[in-house]
Amino acid sequence: MAEDPFERRHAPPIGAVEPLAPGLRVVTAPNAGPMTFTGTRSYIVGEGEVAVIDPGPADPRHLEALAGAVRGERVAAVLVTHAHRDHSEGARAFAERVGAPVLAHGDPTGARSPLMAGLAARGGLGGGEGIDAGFRPDSRIGEGAEISGPGWTLAAIATPGHLSDHLSFRWGEAVFSGDVAMGWATTLISPPDGDLAAFRASIGRLRALAPARLYPGHGAPVEAPERLLAHLLEHRAARERQIVGALAEAPAAIPDLVARLYGDVDPRLHPAAARNVLAHLIDLAARGEVRTQGALVPEARFEIAR
Ligand SMILES: [Zn+2]
Repeated sequence: MAEDPFERRHAPPIGAVEPLAPGLRVVTAPNAGPMTFTGTRSYIVGEGEVAVIDPGPADPRHLEALAGAVRGERVAAVLVTHAHRDHSEGARAFAERVGAPVLAHGDPTGARSPLMAGLAARGGLGGGEGIDAGFRPDSRIGEGAEISGPGWTLAAIATPGHLSDHLSFRWGEAVFSGDVAMGWATTLISPPDGDLAAFRASIGRLRALAPARLYPGHGAPVEAPERLLAHLLEHRAARERQIVGALAEAPAAIPDLVARLYGDVDPRLHPAAARNVLAHLIDLAARGEVRTQGALVPEARFEIAR
């Protein structure tokens, strides 16, 4: 695998306004953690009349900081990349405070692929980590929606994979990439709302746009997007080769595969790793490469299909 392009040195000011570029500021939420890195990044696009992307968690300190950052300005729209609590849960309170509508896709269940919808309907698949089940945008938007103000336009790009309702937003030569492409780590793909096939397609779409910069939901701006995006795909391909290689030796269950393939990873991340492995196995099963004896559930034993 090519050298990893991740940047893990990131020390943003928490709760303060951080200017990133002309017409772009960010306020980082106080929710650092193993899945959120240095905290959710709430972006403010424009000046005077602005859009806010991802108001973040429902934390009064963050609400206060974000409202303070836009004091004296008009918030035209509150956009949410996806309905995970660390991005969406603070949206309603913030939007009411500044008198702006919340715009998002906001229907992760409805946006599942037919394969994932079918697996979910059969039950026992687990998943749903971090979903903000109560999230209801004022307007549901999708691919191609444009939101603009003086000097700025944001165009929605459907980028499922991490979560089926996930939108990225193109802003000139840059893209706000939410959690689908981040500069500090690969994203969680937990079926049925996470979907590896959708993830690959979404990364392909972002690559085709050839953005000059990514502003992710967590972590520093990505200054070399192509290098990162290519790595994200190669990382998944390498993981797939490892899984196929292990199963070629002997049928295995997910905990065996995690112990074998993620031995060097922080044990706190092993539950997330198990979900990523499940995502690979579902993808491999859909392609006829892998099968289970009984139902395709996280407890199944998996084997090579040919
Ligand atoms: Zn997320």
